[in-house]
Amino acid sequence: MSRRIRKSVRVKGTYKLSDFIIQRTLGTGSFGRVHLVRSRHNLRFYAIKVLNKERIVKMKQIEHTNNEQQMLSSVQHPFIINLWGVFQDAGSLYMVMDFVPGGELFTLLRRSNRFPDPVAKFYAAEVALALNHLHSEDIVYRDLKPENILLNADGHIKIADFGFAKSCETVTWTLCGTPDYLAPEIILQQRYNKSVDWYALGVLIFEMLSGLPPYHQSEVNHMLLYERITRGPTFIKFPTAFQDNATDLIMKLMEGDASRRYGNMRHGAGDVFAHPWFREVDWDRLSARDIMAPYMPRINGEGDASAFDNYPEDNIDQSYGLPGPDPHGHHFPDFEYTIPQL
Ligand code: AMP
Repeated sequence: MSRRIRKSVRVKGTYKLSDFIIQRTLGTGSFGRVHLVRSRHNLRFYAIKVLNKERIVKMKQIEHTNNEQQMLSSVQHPFIINLWGVFQDAGSLYMVMDFVPGGELFTLLRRSNRFPDPVAKFYAAEVALALNHLHSEDIVYRDLKPENILLNADGHIKIADFGFAKSCETVTWTLCGTPDYLAPEIILQQRYNKSVDWYALGVLIFEMLSGLPPYHQSEVNHMLLYERITRGPTFIKFPTAFQDNATDLIMKLMEGDASRRYGNMRHGAGDVFAHPWFREVDWDRLSARDIMAPYMPRINGEGDASAFDNYPEDNIDQSYGLPGPDPHGHHFPDFEYTIPQL
């Protein structure tokens, strides 16, 4: 259990739905959608995540949703999405974020099949810096995967979706995450700590270099997948094209025994940063975003969302902001009501 009191690092903005014009859908999740919006005031573009309160309550995600808001408003880092403010009305919760126009790393990876070693290294190094920052703030992220890594206009990463992030000074138990990226201790329902994020970094490096995660199967079979994950990384077939240093780091990050996993030993993230695969990385310059990104998203002016898939819009935004019964609002005390309740 965490006793740490989290403070928002930014002066929270007060927003309401009518401050924005909804342009299109950028992505969908289990509880709602993310829209590209334009501010009526400063004409800038933002992304708003809209979550359906009823669905969150039904799917028992109240705590995760409140965690998401609290974690995001308490971190500020160049490689992590910026949250400007949150609000709610009778039916929905709203989270106002920067619009990250370059799309998902997932899309770039599937389009490229796999990344050359230096490209994978660049993204992995930025992710490692972001994870280290979160861990230094006692936050475990728990959902690392290419879909949650967005590319900014300058090609640097922004980690999004803090739906599973949580304050975690010691250990935790909840089973959550994405199957291919789950550490064995999560599957075995044992106590776990921040080292599950380092495990997931190992999976991510493998996926970036080979195009698919290490235990990928063409037909989804979670039992078989979980069995392979718990057997450990010695059974992974590493493509011969992998550099030895890359294989070595992946093995050390995907170590089944969390007490011997890289990132989780005496030198913490220092072991990861000092690993020979990252030898040529200048960590200070990378933190300052002073290294040219390997891929520049093609963006035609502000508000260009062509890097994102198209979704049927179904006039969904017409259902936002309607007056009605609000039996669930009290579960989300940090989301302000910015228009008077009826
Ligand atoms: P989430 O539910 O947070 O995973 O968001 C679903 C999808 O919406 C993501 O995978 C992205 O494609 C997109 N998305 C989320 N946040 C942003 C953002 N701030 N800027 C651009 N796209 C976003």
